[in-house]
Amino acid sequence: MIVSILKESSTEKRVSLLPEQVEVLTEKNIKVLVEHNAGLNAFATDEDYVQKGAEIVSREEALLKASLIFSIHPIPSGDIKEGTILAGVFQPLFNAEWVQQCQSKSITLFSLDAIPRTTRAQSMDVLSSQANIAGYKAVLLAAQLYPRYFPMFMTAAGSIPPAKMLIIGAGVAGLQAIATARRLGAVVEVFDTRPAVKEEVMSLGGKFVEVDGAADASKAGGYAVEQTEEYKRRQQELIANSIQKADVVITTAQIPGKKAPVLITEDMLDKMRTGSVIIDLAAATGGNTAVTKNEETILHKGVIIVGNSNLASTMPFDASKLYGKNLLNFLQLVLTPEGEIALNFEDDIVNATCISKKQ
Ligand code: NAD
Repeated sequence: MIVSILKESSTEKRVSLLPEQVEVLTEKNIKVLVEHNAGLNAFATDEDYVQKGAEIVSREEALLKASLIFSIHPIPSGDIKEGTILAGVFQPLFNAEWVQQCQSKSITLFSLDAIPRTTRAQSMDVLSSQANIAGYKAVLLAAQLYPRYFPMFMTAAGSIPPAKMLIIGAGVAGLQAIATARRLGAVVEVFDTRPAVKEEVMSLGGKFVEVDGAADASKAGGYAVEQTEEYKRRQQELIANSIQKADVVITTAQIPGKKAPVLITEDMLDKMRTGSVIIDLAAATGGNTAVTKNEETILHKGVIIVGNSNLASTMPFDASKLYGKNLLNFLQLVLTPEGEIALNFEDDIVNATCISKKQ
């Protein structure tokens, strides 16, 4: 079998598999083709791939010869030959038309963002491995932009109070953000619609702000669900109160397949002090503030607002390493010991991730 690794777009620094991970495939007699310079932005050169047994080819050849293609983002369906299998993060709820085009070409798509949030699937969970990085980098980015210290200092030249951070959404990214912010000495308050995360937040040293009357999310596979108007009103009041005191805000609130909820209104932004920083990780689905611009950093009445849902790409080596490991773990479910593809749709992970298959 032939597996191809493609170069991502110019704004994406990650690669779907690093050279050090190629051997897992070549040991199974799988031939690995790597598009020229695919790993360059993740500090993996063509020579590194060749040393590990891969062959460097043009994009056309990588697309033409592969039975299985690894990528991170969708590739134009016109570029993929009929019957190919693709594994990546394809966001089917936002890319329905592309999925339809692939389906009509009998292209099989495994979208790892559709993986069930179960214990067995944890080692293949790309959303988690990448969100963990995003949470960490969000705090570092905020520290870099914030014109004051994060930790408290008592010095001969005067005292510095600790930065007050507000984190909205305590999923994988939010929890890592709490841990990182606490390590840097910030004081952290946290909102989430899922009361179940309260203990985790507290164990990381954050203060959990409770809003009564959250909608039951127990049947949504751990994800958030939309809230009632009454809940939203109560939450807004409490957020408005916390945000006035916050120096740094990190927002991560997302609802799968839907536009992100606007939790920070213009009124709230007006009450923040100048020099405050907001890192909005929900920017790609509309953002959690009323003014977020995706992939842009703006200054809104003295408040710095960063809209970036792809911070994992700013740490491309480790992000690629974890992504590649997730992919290889997933591959074990669909590969025979001889390195051929054998799909078992009785497997809940194979079934849930397969968003298009051979007709
Ligand atoms: P996510 O990226 O979908 O959302 C981020 C957070 O925002 C979530 O905690 C969500 O509850 C919160 N949120 C959504 N709307 C909100 C609102 N209006 N106000 C405040 N908060 C809001 O979440 P995620 O990081 O993908 O994690 C989702 C869940 O899945 C978590 O419970 C996580 O622990 C769980 N999980 C389980 C596994 C596993 O078992 N394999 C793996 C990863 C995550």
